Amino acid sequence: MHVPDADVLSPLTLDGHFTFHDAPAMARDFGNRCSLLPAAVLHPGSVSDIAAAVGHVFSLGERSPLTVAARGHGHSLMCQSQAAGGIVVRMESLRGDRLQVVHGGGVPPFVDAPGGELWINVLHETLRYGLAPKSWTDYLHLTVGGTLSNAGVSGQAFRHGPQVSNVNQLEIVTGRGDVVTCSPEENADLFYAALGGLGQFGIITRARIALEPAPKMVRWIRVLYSDFASFTEDQEMLIMAEKTFDYIEGFVIINRTGILNNWRTSFKPQDPVQASRFQSDGRVLYCLELTKNFNSDDVDTMEQEVTALLSRLGYIRSTLFHTDVTYLEFLDRVHTSEVKLRAQGLWEVPHPWLNLLIPRSSIQRFAKEVFGKILKDSNNGPILLYPVNKSKWDNRTSVVIPDEEIFYLVGFLSSAPSLSGHGSVAHAMNLNNQIVEFCEEADIGMKQYLAAYTTQQQWKAHFGARWETFERRKHTYDPLAILAPGQRIFPKASLPLSL
Ligand code: FAD
Repeated sequence: MHVPDADVLSPLTLDGHFTFHDAPAMARDFGNRCSLLPAAVLHPGSVSDIAAAVGHVFSLGERSPLTVAARGHGHSLMCQSQAAGGIVVRMESLRGDRLQVVHGGGVPPFVDAPGGELWINVLHETLRYGLAPKSWTDYLHLTVGGTLSNAGVSGQAFRHGPQVSNVNQLEIVTGRGDVVTCSPEENADLFYAALGGLGQFGIITRARIALEPAPKMVRWIRVLYSDFASFTEDQEMLIMAEKTFDYIEGFVIINRTGILNNWRTSFKPQDPVQASRFQSDGRVLYCLELTKNFNSDDVDTMEQEVTALLSRLGYIRSTLFHTDVTYLEFLDRVHTSEVKLRAQGLWEVPHPWLNLLIPRSSIQRFAKEVFGKILKDSNNGPILLYPVNKSKWDNRTSVVIPDEEIFYLVGFLSSAPSLSGHGSVAHAMNLNNQIVEFCEEADIGMKQYLAAYTTQQQWKAHFGARWETFERRKHTYDPLAILAPGQRIFPKASLPLSL
């Protein structure tokens, strides 16, 4: 690999600075399965620093191998925020004092957030005004620019769409080093390109995110099903209903002992006696997870609505559990697990995750093959499974989704703490490959989310009819293919196409 010497960067006068000693730390990500050493790390002191650095690389022309990767919180799975021999921009250096909540004055409330800001900080700041963003990810220690470059999906997406559907405006540094403000009304092509754009068209330095009044509390409910068809039927009924829950997700539980006992540490059973008799081992079970927002003055209404909605569902009656928590506690729930896993040394292990979007028409067939055969005996981590509505996804963005009105997000969130056996990367990858092969052979119209393809051919197949637009936008906004090289979509001429 060609590593440019520091002199190449010396013409730049910056508010922030470059460092070289922390390059190895930027060659890591949450996936923990690959490592690309950058030449330098930019800690921008301003948006102009990012524009100057990208503009400088652009001015070096196509013969220079230098690339630039924005790094959010480095929670990618397969090198997406890394740059071999290039410049990594630590977007978190730009966060903090520029978070600005705007409300009143007859306009819907919004927050202007730096691209490197963590969603948890956006939440803390907006809650001070009794407001919050509408659409989330399950985990909030991710950056605004990082999730908006993918999609940002969680249990609110059925109602509000993914996070990319809840942005009013972006400020972007393009691959030419220009700083451009864009929105549906102004530079709309760049706006939609960057949303779900995998960092290919520019570096998001600021996002204007729509807000709504934040509830104080949520009732957080879990129930179990043993029948996949009734589980998904209820999920679909709930996401389509006018009066429904505020968050709807689900997960698959394969052969776990004492599942309800584990829930008791944080949830209350509706019927403790029946719940204690329930056996989960040896079975495949499906957990529907729901929340209903409320404030202290509308507890009775919330209770009535929840009771009415639950009465329409076909879950196993003895498995109804609930708890009431603050909105903040609910949204930050995965961080609580992170703290526990870190204490056990189980957070910074390899994560061979696989995230799929499966059309509704194939989900029963998919479940039969995957949960009934491929994963029958083992899996190593949570499996998420919940439906969303295509109508809430703006098809002008770069996000690729299946071509059906309802599709399911299915996330196999495996950890691989051991070097061999069931807890290894090799084992998880073998299962992932079998799942992908089944989808491809059965031609069920699956699309990968957070995909880690390694050849342009694979990316072309992923984008399908939308490739032409994606490629045209790349030529317009980053013609030298400087940005986000770790996605391995457009290689800079002098770089190898695959690792
Ligand atoms: P990075 O991983 O640092 O960057 C991701 C990509 O975007 C890279 O290509 C990078 O170059 C580019 N990029 C980063 N910042 C910018 C910017 N400002 N402008 C332009 N490009 C940029 N996703 C969901 O949708 N829903 C979930 O519920 C969800 N839960 C998760 C839970 C955990 C524990 C983890 C680790 C991830 C989860 N994700 C989820 C995936 C998450 O969306 C991705 O990890 C995503 O990459 C965001 O992480 P990041 O902010 O650290 O960005």
